Amino acid sequence: MSAGEEAPTMPIYEYECRACGKLTSALIMKAEEESQVLCKHCRGHDLKRVISRVVWHKTEAQRLSEFDARGRQDDAFYRDDRNIGLWAKKRLSDMDVDLGSQLDETIEKARSGKILDDL
Ligand SMILES: [Zn+2]
Repeated sequence: MSAGEEAPTMPIYEYECRACGKLTSALIMKAEEESQVLCKHCRGHDLKRVISRVVWHKTEAQRLSEFDARGRQDDAFYRDDRNIGLWAKKRLSDMDVDLGSQLDETIEKARSGKILDDL
């Protein structure tokens, strides 16, 4: 745990609708919210949780460790502004560049849409 840690990860559960068989994902913060989940396809409420499909929002550290800057990412990846800073961090660490506190400033520029051409 370090200073500036992001908010705790959040559980996203997936549910299979017994009426139409399609999956609906929902963020469940409290157990009682589970009974309020509706199928987003048919509005049915007879859902069963699909245990194996539970995913967690990743922390930045997890994203960073799994991220491959050379890999091709889909459009959704680039629309997520958290990943813009991630890309910059990964590239800089690959290049052994240690910008210290300047790095966060650089990432803030990247996230606000400015180009990294002053590096
Ligand atoms: Zn349904």
